Amino acid sequence: MLDRIRIVFIGTSHPGNIGGAARAMRNMGLDDLALVSPRCEPHDSEAYARASGADTIVDRAAIFETLEDAVGDCTLVVGASARSRHLPWPLIAPRPLAQSLPQLLAAEQSRVALVFGREDTGLTNAELQRCHRHVHIPTNPEFSSLNLAAAVQVLAYECRQAFLEAAESPSTAENDDSRPFGVTWDNPPATHADMERFFAHLESTLTTLEFHDPDNPRQLMARLRRLFMRAHLDTMEMNILRGILGTIDKRLGDRS
Ligand code: SAH
Repeated sequence: MLDRIRIVFIGTSHPGNIGGAARAMRNMGLDDLALVSPRCEPHDSEAYARASGADTIVDRAAIFETLEDAVGDCTLVVGASARSRHLPWPLIAPRPLAQSLPQLLAAEQSRVALVFGREDTGLTNAELQRCHRHVHIPTNPEFSSLNLAAAVQVLAYECRQAFLEAAESPSTAENDDSRPFGVTWDNPPATHADMERFFAHLESTLTTLEFHDPDNPRQLMARLRRLFMRAHLDTMEMNILRGILGTIDKRLGDRS
């Protein structure tokens, strides 16, 4: 199930970090690496030197233009960032995040993305706002930012430990109904692509309603994103919301 975890790098500028991350991933049993608009040549000799034998992960790394393309099929998207934000995003520590994964990933169609930012500027607010959760590795607050490949190492290690623990005592994980999408949940989680289509629809309907003004957006869409990302919707909930928006659109059309 560790192969259902995707490591996503945005705008990476040092091939050595791609190699270092590939090595960390292979050590921990992960193998799905996605690169969004890399700012370097991923197959550079420095990448292979740092991969120290984990070459297949570098070779097979998929390259995408946008974050949406890289994580469209994912049912949980988590952004890794050392920084807290003006609009705080639902925060989770590496261990509880990892411990929630065996249950979530038990469903065959589940995919989790762990998204990492640029070496110089990290993740933008817009990128973090496309994530369900913000994971922060609790470092020294006066020197909080890890090297990119080191940050992958820490999270991949926590994931591996959580899977080893769950394999030892599967019943504890299965009986935890406080976490959605376990064996007892009735519907699969919505994918990231479903969520993005929903947000586009929501924005369009709210604009037509004149509740949302794209020329003076304030933080409305970011706050609505946070609300619905925090809820971690399933496909039935998503369909109901899309149905409500469709009915509003129809009524608005009837009146014009
Ligand atoms: N200077 C950048 C940090 C870049 S470090 C900034 O201002 O954000 C490169 C990436 O490693 C980050 O974007 C993040 O994805 C990850 N990372 C580094 N330290 C981290 C930490 N303490 N917690 C979570 N992710 C971290």
